[in-house]
Amino acid sequence: MKLRTFLATATATIALATGAFADGTVGIAMPTKSSARWISDGNSMVEQFAAAGYETDLQYAEDDIPNQLAQIENMITKGVDVLVIAAIDGTTLSNALENAAAADIKVIAYDRLIRDSGNVDYYATFDNFKVGVQQAESLVKGLNERFGDQKPWNVELFGGSPDDNNAYFFYNGAMSVLQPMIDAGDIVIGSGQMGMDTVGTLRWDGAVAQSRMDNLLSANYTDKQVHGVLSPYDGLSIGILSSLKGVGYGSGDMKMPIVTGQDAEVPSVKSMLAGEQYSTVFKDTRSLAGVTVGMVDALLKGGTPEINDTSTYDNGVKVVPSYLLEPVSVDVTNWEEVLIGSGYYTMDQIQ
Ligand code: BGC
Repeated sequence: MKLRTFLATATATIALATGAFADGTVGIAMPTKSSARWISDGNSMVEQFAAAGYETDLQYAEDDIPNQLAQIENMITKGVDVLVIAAIDGTTLSNALENAAAADIKVIAYDRLIRDSGNVDYYATFDNFKVGVQQAESLVKGLNERFGDQKPWNVELFGGSPDDNNAYFFYNGAMSVLQPMIDAGDIVIGSGQMGMDTVGTLRWDGAVAQSRMDNLLSANYTDKQVHGVLSPYDGLSIGILSSLKGVGYGSGDMKMPIVTGQDAEVPSVKSMLAGEQYSTVFKDTRSLAGVTVGMVDALLKGGTPEINDTSTYDNGVKVVPSYLLEPVSVDVTNWEEVLIGSGYYTMDQIQ
């Protein structure tokens, strides 16, 4: 390389690294590192923003609401150009976002809708209702396969965190499939526990789900088998499966109930291959990062971000223009094609 070219390249690299010539800085607030999906989301965004010429400030809040608020306030003070936020509690950010708006900082809600604020410009997510539909359809597919001759099926329901708007979409999507089957008498909710206010799992905590499952089993299933459990997230599914295994399901003549999930996290993919968890829903975090980078780029360069939904996500103050990606239902029949074929995981990670 000629000296002049070398110096120009080196200067450009240093400029980008120090932010001197970057097209802008993006503050990224993620909820927690306790679930692998958010780590993938963060890494994909940092990579893709850098490739598009942006600096990033990526922060995780370990599911602590004041911590996330402080991180966002700090980003506003430092003068980021855009905030990308996956909220822990989607209802607690209104004041912080007023400050962002006053400083002319655009805000993108990432994966989870930010509620009760007019200062949310765009929303990048998956079709969350469809995630729930896919979970319930997979549950019914598994019930037919494993317990086809044992109707009515005894099923228990788990919901996500009540402070996460997505949790209601997952639950409602699932119930759009399950309620007619309950009404028809094909499915019985053994405990009778239904509705997000009863079946929700605060902070998506697997230990909470495990202890609720322990209680459900001891109160309702000492003389009958549970056939299926609707679980909205892999971290809950692993807890639910521990509880089931603890009382003997999956061994002898106690067949493992059908347990669903979401996020295609490695422990759950391994669990599926071991014949425990029945299914999961894959949401490609690389694509979600890609949509978000595209939105930011358009916003900062005076363009209009691409959206494909202008009616679904009313946050209580406004309908937030959204881009919804497609989730993919995954079980033992298609995991290799979907998860390895797409390059999301290598075979080594799974086996
Ligand atoms: C996300 C899910 C995730 C859950 C728990 C939801 O908001 O959409 O992908 O499983 O949070 O982290």
